[in-house]
Formats: sequence, C-alpha cells, structure tokens
Amino acid sequence: MFKLYNTLSGKKEGFKSLETGKVKMYTCGPTVYDYAHIGNLAAYLYADTLRRTLEYLGYEVRHIVNITDVGHLTDDDIGQADSGDEKMIKAAKRENKTPWEIAEFYTEKFFSDIEKLNIRKASYYPRATAHIPQMIKIIEKLIEKGLAYEKNGNVFFDVEKFSDYGKLSKKKLTDLKIGNRLEEHPDKKNPFDFALWLKAPKNHLMQWDSPWSKGYPGWHIECSAMSMEYLGQTLDIHTGGEDHIFPHHENEIAQSEGATGKTFSHFWFHNRFLLVDGAKMSKSKGNFYRLDDILAMGFDPMDFRLLVLSGHYRSGLNFTQNSLKQAQTNRKKIERFVSELKKIASQSVKSTNEEFLNLNEYQTRFDQAIKDDLNTPLALSVVYELILQINKKIINKKFTSTEAEKVLNFWNKINKVLGLKFEEKTANLPETVKKLVAERESARKNKNFSLADQLRDKIKNLGYQVEDTTDGQVARKIKK
Ligand code: AMP
Ligand code: ZN
Repeated sequence: MFKLYNTLSGKKEGFKSLETGKVKMYTCGPTVYDYAHIGNLAAYLYADTLRRTLEYLGYEVRHIVNITDVGHLTDDDIGQADSGDEKMIKAAKRENKTPWEIAEFYTEKFFSDIEKLNIRKASYYPRATAHIPQMIKIIEKLIEKGLAYEKNGNVFFDVEKFSDYGKLSKKKLTDLKIGNRLEEHPDKKNPFDFALWLKAPKNHLMQWDSPWSKGYPGWHIECSAMSMEYLGQTLDIHTGGEDHIFPHHENEIAQSEGATGKTFSHFWFHNRFLLVDGAKMSKSKGNFYRLDDILAMGFDPMDFRLLVLSGHYRSGLNFTQNSLKQAQTNRKKIERFVSELKKIASQSVKSTNEEFLNLNEYQTRFDQAIKDDLNTPLALSVVYELILQINKKIINKKFTSTEAEKVLNFWNKINKVLGLKFEEKTANLPETVKKLVAERESARKNKNFSLADQLRDKIKNLGYQVEDTTDGQVARKIKK
C-alpha cells in the first residue's frame, strides 16, 4: 500500500483515490512576476516525484498547475484595496512592461526551467486571468451563503462564519487574534478575514468588471476556481510548499468547502523549505539562486534533480555548493553505470554460469522505499548498492549482455520515478560521427584546437552539433 503523509490529518495514510485508477492532483504554480528560484523548483520537483510515483503505481494522473498572472498582493492578508502593491504591477513598473508582457516572459522561463529538470508536463496550465468569471461565481455563492461580505466594492471572506477554519494549519482563531501582525483594512470586520475581491484604484493596470466594483481578485480564490474548473469539487491531492499551509491553503479550503459544502481535497502534500547555507533564501542576503545560476557554475540540471531526490521532501533541504558537488558526483556515477549497461547490452558477452543478482529483491526494496511516503533517499541507496554489485561483476568479467539488458530494463522502470535524464553522449550517433567526435577528443587533449575546430565543422556538415561540457563532448543532431 502506498503511504502518504497528509498535512490535514498530520499522519501518514494509506492512499486511496476517489475514482479507481485515477488521481486528480492540483499544484500551486508560479506567480510569474520574476524568475523561479531553486526553492520553487524544488517544490515542483517534489510534486513531480509524487506524480511519477502515482503513475509508476499504475494510476492515471490528471495534474493541473496554475499560472498566477495576477496579484498576488505583496502582503496577502493586508488586503489594502488601494495600495496598488501587487507583485505583477510592481514588476511591470520595474521592467517598464505591461503586466501581460511580464507574465508572458516569466511563464516561458518557467516552462524552460521545468523542461531542463525533466519535470513532467501538467495536463493543463490554466492562467488566473482567464478565470475571472469562475472566481466571481464562487464569490457570489459565498456572499449568498453569508460566508463573505461586501463593503465599498471590496469583498472579504468572513472566517468566523466558517467553523472549520484552521483545520489544515491547526491554527485557532483565538490564537490568531493574539500576537498576529495583521494590518487592518478599513472594510474588514476582522483583521484575519481575507480578500476575495478588491476594488482597483483608477490607474491600476489590471482590473475587471464585477458585481461589486471594477477590481481584481484576491490571491487565494484563483486556486479554488481553477482546481474546481478542471478537476471538479473534490480533489485527491493538493500540493505546495509549507509556506502555503497558512494562509493560502487554509483559505482555499474555507472558500471551496464554504461554497460547495464538500471536502475540497483528501490529501494535502507539503514540502519543507529549501534553505541555502542554512538560511532562508533572499535576494538581499545574496544567497538567491536560479537554475541558470547553478548551470553557469558548470552543473547539470540533473545534479540539482538528484540533490533534491537525495533528501526527503518533509526533511527540508540545505543547499550548499558542496551538497550540489556531491550530487554531481553521484549523477556521474549513475550516468556512467547506465552507459556501461548500454554498452555491454549491445555487445555479446557470453554467460559465465555465475549466479545472477536477484533483481526482484532490489525491486521490492525500491518499491518499499518509494511507497513509504516517497522515501527517495532510501530508494537511491538501493540504486547505489546495485551499482556497486554490478561494477564488481564487470571488473571480474562476470557480467553478460543478457544480464546487462535485464538490469537496463530494471533501471528504465525505476527511473520513471526518479526522472533522471542523461544526454546521449555518443550512443545513437552514426559511426562516422562517433569517429570524428573521438578524433576531436584527442585533438583537444593534445591542445590542437585548430584541428578540433575543423573536426567540429566536419561534424556539423554531417548534421550534428558538438558542444564541450564539463563532462566532455556532447553531440546531438541539429534540429531542422
Ligand atoms: P510562489 O511562486 O511563491 O507561489 O511559490 C511557488 C511554490 O514554491 C510554492 O509551492 C511555494 O510553497 C514553493 N516555495 C517557495 N519557496 C520555497 C523554498 N525555499 N523551498 C521550497 N519550496 C518553496
Ligand atoms: Zn494555490
């Protein structure tokens, strides 16, 4: 049985989907006013591992990831209708672009980052600005049910009217009142009521008509609207980072369950934060990294993927240059192993009568690890042990092509969960290209760079592009 920790119950629970064989999963996506940082990307990698595991276990997963291209307020709970301090708008002013251009640019950047990390594409990426009518409908319902109120064109959710408020974060309204630095909005009944709709100042760049005012939605409502639009009123799993437990997800539950009267999501999956050198990442502290920053240092996207998988999603990850270097060493080890398997499998190394490894045992241990609340570090230790055993056999020349093929099949199967993608260095290249790449390698070793350049041109004429990376040359077919 697949066990998954549920923030709602505070326990690991046996996973059961609402509909047999199918999972409805929603992930809070990026606010596209800036580049994603490695903490955000770690959150998407954890969600990807969950999705891959579900697929590995035979579920068909419908996965929705939203794109927040409106709001959210810099300080979400303040709900200052006329502060104009939304992140999107701030970015638009900073970059002298329209909010729509900002959103377009950073959405593309987000897609490119997740592709590099081999994160599986969601079934759909709905954009908040395309779902204003759905949000308005939910707000109308909430007003009708007496769970929300309007004042001066602003609409707020009345948390005191929703008795389950706090069930996810385990926060009590009475505790919230004490010592919580929530600023008053003149139209709020209680400082912890949250905005559903805000009246926009005249010159506000993003505003829509609504029954209450020309304005824009609060942040939380968009996720309720988009998840219900594409997955229905009840989801199997909702994911996000731990910072979203409160207020974002608590508020999503209040709005959604308030409007429908049904359970919003059965499972709540939250990853702990990624820290850099033990501290919270921040631009002002200078410990802020994007994926491109670490690639510019000579790392491969898979080094970061492996680093994230090397820890448990609920343990938190301390990102340091050394931990990334360690992940790089491990990535190279796995990559060499896979390429060696391919090589041996393509040759005809005969049987030695040596008893072969019991792959079933490795499979069982891998499955047990991954089914225990996605214990990826333990699952990886099974892979490293396998590599060690096989390497011994290779050194002792006791490893046949048939065996290599079996191990390769096993690797391909479990890698559906790990999602490690290795560049095909020279495998799959035509023999002529392979030969030229090898000649170029020795020319480079001998520092004969003009010959290396000539060879690069020859390779190019054959339709292949060769690049020099920290791991040696990578050749790939030039896309027409
Ligand atoms: P945002 O664009 O701020 O909504 O963040 C996108 C996702 O990244 C959310 O699920 C956040 O909870 C998550 N997140 C933000 N910072 C970190 C971090 N340092 N480590 C892990 N997850 C994070
Ligand atoms: Zn959300």
